[in-house]
Amino acid sequence: MIVARSVLVTGGNRGIGLAIARAMAEDGDAVTVTHRSGEPPAGLKGVICEITDAESVKNAVAQVEADQGPIEVLVANAGVTRDTLLMRMSDDDWDSVVDTNLGGTFRCVRAVSKSMIKARRGRIILVGSVVGLMGSPGQVNYAATKSGLVGMARAITREIGGRGITTNVVAPGFIDTDMTASLPEKVRNEYLSRIPAGRFGNVDEIAATVRFLASDSAAYITGAVIPVDGGIGMGH
Ligand code: NDP
Repeated sequence: MIVARSVLVTGGNRGIGLAIARAMAEDGDAVTVTHRSGEPPAGLKGVICEITDAESVKNAVAQVEADQGPIEVLVANAGVTRDTLLMRMSDDDWDSVVDTNLGGTFRCVRAVSKSMIKARRGRIILVGSVVGLMGSPGQVNYAATKSGLVGMARAITREIGGRGITTNVVAPGFIDTDMTASLPEKVRNEYLSRIPAGRFGNVDEIAATVRFLASDSAAYITGAVIPVDGGIGMGH
């Protein structure tokens, strides 16, 4: 028998987050995605949430918990890039990426942690990036946040890992989404030449890994970084 879990996916209105939300909904879970404007994607429940705003996160989590029960699986997926070379990177380029990718993830995890601790069960999955482990020119801000998520996941694991809660990072490589569609052709080809699998990944390949980490079978995996990157990050 499938027992529906209460799942929240941030940034689940498009891209990787949407694929994750759809995969988990297919499994019979009660899934809500955060979105910042407009309507949620067809067939999924949505909640308005701006992750740089602590009140917005608190209200969104309260709304989801009232609707589908305490959150048992959090997929902290929302993230942004503001790429430019170090010397040209403004304080605003830095601050906005740190505040979204690192601060926003922290706010979401903090908001769901109380009920997970009380329930003595939970799955926290942070969407990092291979770039957080390998580095990448033009992404000093982004790479710093994505490697920061690894430290965050491991500190959370040491803090609440004994309460039946796992916290892991999925580190995608280059995945076909809006985020990578904006890359210039030359840069795409350069990345492609470095990926042993010889192609970009697709969103369903990330969703499959998240789905596994959220399952009972993954109960003994925590504080881990799981690469889904076609081999580009090998050795890191
Ligand atoms: P997209 O740009 O397609 O989607 C990003 C999502 O994050 C959107 O739903 C967006 O909402 C949401 N978001 C951004 N800022 C905020 C905010 N301040 N508050 C709430 N929501 C916000 O990205 P991808 O699907 O490609 O990426 C998803 C995650 O995967 C990101 O964390 C990214 O860093 C990571 N990743 C992606 C890779 C790739 O190749 N695509 C590779 C490695 C990691 P809205 O629609 O309102 O803008």
